Amino acid sequence: MSIRKRYTGLIEHYRDRLPVSETTRLISLGEGNTPLIQLQNIPRLIGKDVDIYVKYEGLNPTGSFKDRGMTMAVTKAVEDGSKAIICASTGNTSAAAAAYAVRAGIKAFVLIPEGKIALGKLAQTLMYGAEIIQINGNFDRGMALVKEVADHAPVTIVNSINPFRLEGQKTAAFEIVDELGCAPDYHCLPVGNAGNISAYWKGYKEYSTDTDTHQAVTKTRPIMCGYQAAGAAPFVLGQMVDEPETVATAIRIGHPQSWDLAWAAQKESGGWFNKFSDEQILAAQKMLSQYEGVFCEPASATSLAGALHDISTGKIPEGSKVVCTLTGNGLKDPDSAIKQCEAAHPVTIEASLDAVKKAILDNM
Ligand SMILES: *Cc1c(COP(=O)(O)O)cnc(C)c1O
Repeated sequence: MSIRKRYTGLIEHYRDRLPVSETTRLISLGEGNTPLIQLQNIPRLIGKDVDIYVKYEGLNPTGSFKDRGMTMAVTKAVEDGSKAIICASTGNTSAAAAAYAVRAGIKAFVLIPEGKIALGKLAQTLMYGAEIIQINGNFDRGMALVKEVADHAPVTIVNSINPFRLEGQKTAAFEIVDELGCAPDYHCLPVGNAGNISAYWKGYKEYSTDTDTHQAVTKTRPIMCGYQAAGAAPFVLGQMVDEPETVATAIRIGHPQSWDLAWAAQKESGGWFNKFSDEQILAAQKMLSQYEGVFCEPASATSLAGALHDISTGKIPEGSKVVCTLTGNGLKDPDSAIKQCEAAHPVTIEASLDAVKKAILDNM
């Protein structure tokens, strides 16, 4: 019998590439090590010879990639003696902050925009027992308030302006290179606050400058493609947006905090930004569910919507290897899923063998 080494989270796994010491107490829930799933039916459906993989970050402990950054940020906050963390959030950051705070035994304060956070995210955050502060303003307003209040109260900010967040999140790029044996040609991401695209680029760059352990790696850096919702697309417009609006609430952000870092990722990689309508985003979300069996939240599907668009126009050429990050789990936002499937709502029949048999045969 062979005993597999227990996986205990991304800090332990990539310890030598992260700012921790031998004595650091790691605050972990076993995050990272998420599946890289190769799409099988969609490439055939669109008639293009491309390798598309989805990095399914919805399988992290709280259901989004935010756990990668939060394990690192909370580990460092605790190491520095902090007793409370705070964040502004469109939902997933608050869920992650709340969970890791519980794990660490410290307090979490989360500012969320009233009525604009998906049901699953609210449910989680309530259950983890965070102090929820609802504001009648959007994420950008919440972010500004968090930055101000941190100067007046003993709380550590765990939004992605906390540099340890990006340190944790860069490990997703390491995992992809480790698994593919090289970087993809194109890496597609939804962009909101732009911390994640910046973190991936940092990760790819760090891995590619390491010649000791990765001599065999041929291609080490992808072209970075950042996709936004049409109603919240400051990178495409080249300027901040004051009233961002989109069904993809996780990227309903008009004043991204990692503005300069994300532009650097785009320029250095030779990549681009583009924007897509809510209809295009939801269509990609549904397509992924119905053709591949992978359920992500609306914001996450923006990466696939963008990839499919750029593949269809040839901007991403045939023969390419493409990775799309699916940032969050579809269960996070049951309302928008059910709303999209109204026509397919189940009908109720009589509880008899005949009726059930008929229901099957009529639908074969
Ligand atoms: C946070 C988040 C994003 C946006 O990531 P940024 O780092 O803010 O660009 C996208 N999708 C989901 C599901 C998220 O939770």
